[in-house]
Amino acid sequence: MGDVMSRLRVLIVGGGVGGLALAGTLRRRGADVVVLEKAAELRVRGLGLSFWPNVTAVLRSMGLLGAIEEVSRPMNQVRISTTLGRTLTAIELDGYAVRFGAPSYSITRPELLQVLADWAGDTVRFGAEVVSVSPDGTVTLSDGEKLSADVVVGADGVGSRVREMIEPAGYVAPGTPEKMRGWQGLAPIDAGAGADFEIMFGAFGGAGLLRLAGGRTYWFFQGIPERMSNDRPPSTDGWPEPVRRAVAATPTDAVWKDNLRDRAPMKGWGKGRITLLGDAAHPILPTLGQGACLALEDAHVLSELLMDSGDPVAALRRYEQERYPRIRQMYLNSRRAAKLQRLRPAVRDRLLAAVPDPLYNAVFTAPARPIPNLRPGRNTPVAREASGV
Ligand SMILES: Cc1cc2nc3c(=O)[nH]c(=O)nc-3n(C[C@H](O)[C@H](O)[C@H](O)COP(=O)(O)OP(=O)(O)OC[C@H]3O[C@@H](n4cnc5c(N)ncnc54)[C@H](O)[C@@H]3O)c2cc1C
Repeated sequence: MGDVMSRLRVLIVGGGVGGLALAGTLRRRGADVVVLEKAAELRVRGLGLSFWPNVTAVLRSMGLLGAIEEVSRPMNQVRISTTLGRTLTAIELDGYAVRFGAPSYSITRPELLQVLADWAGDTVRFGAEVVSVSPDGTVTLSDGEKLSADVVVGADGVGSRVREMIEPAGYVAPGTPEKMRGWQGLAPIDAGAGADFEIMFGAFGGAGLLRLAGGRTYWFFQGIPERMSNDRPPSTDGWPEPVRRAVAATPTDAVWKDNLRDRAPMKGWGKGRITLLGDAAHPILPTLGQGACLALEDAHVLSELLMDSGDPVAALRRYEQERYPRIRQMYLNSRRAAKLQRLRPAVRDRLLAAVPDPLYNAVFTAPARPIPNLRPGRNTPVAREASGV
């Protein structure tokens, strides 16, 4: 570890999932890190998240899996069915855990953020809104304060200000964004027997029930905006009993709407001393439940490259290059899953019923596979330090 004079100085814009994970990891590897977060305190909506082996492998390498396990629930079975309850496929994730050397969990976003905030510690400056960033590593806050660093990471989510600074003419990606509407809620009850994660298809798109630690249930309806109300969640008439029970038990202040859109990832999304991470670089649709997982993978890869390289700017370009193929694949697969929801329900159900189990497994396996240096038998510098080996 270098002395204070030679430490890598990193400014991270945004204290969300990716920014906090990156801060804690870089700090432990000897970097001088400050997270600039515009919110006055850590406060996020209670969305449920599915965490697959690709992300639990990252969390374990960071030394965070134990803390995550305390607030999450094992996710061992996923069942996919039609609204009428006809099972299309059932996937056993404990087989994945053995094969990929990492388990799957369900967790809520506030609980994840709390673990990550503890991990990032006093690196976070709340109430610090970034208004501009320059490729020479200078950052300006809304009160006029200026800071500078060797590296600036825009981890400021969908609608990233940092991204706008990189592409002042507008960050226009090729192609048309795919749009979806989501209604979701957190029920303070166990909705009744069923798989750990139930994915269902209905008239307007898809729905899901994710069972959480503490006997709670996260539910969501996601579909094409033209077939879903902008004012209220879809009616649960005709849906299986656990869906109706979960929605009915949810207080109105635990129901949220999102108008969602993706954007094609761009090759080389950084400039000079700036790079991007997570949704700021590559917002994808939540159909595969992988957005936060990708932000955490980004944090892992970026921290490894930055700390193992004597040239931080070259490390940023290499990170963007290394991440691009996986991000693009995940973007395309999330989009394909969304397009499936546009089909007429009868056609879609017939099509899905014809898909053989191995193909369903392959669709779920591809994104859930840990990135190369985290597959079983590999060990990274961060993992070695975290485990004290
Ligand atoms: C309905 C829904 C369901 C989802 N389900 C899943 C799932 O099951 N599994 C999964 O892995 N992912 C899921 N996701 C995606 C996941 O939530 C996101 O991909 C993830 O939160 C992105 O993390 P991030 O760090 O890039 O950004 P965020 O977590 O959004 O953090 C960005 C941070 O930057 C701060 N910020 C913004 N602008 C500024 C500024 N100018 N200055 C300073 N700070 C700023 C914000 O306040 C925020 O704290 C879902 C998303 C949605 C909407």
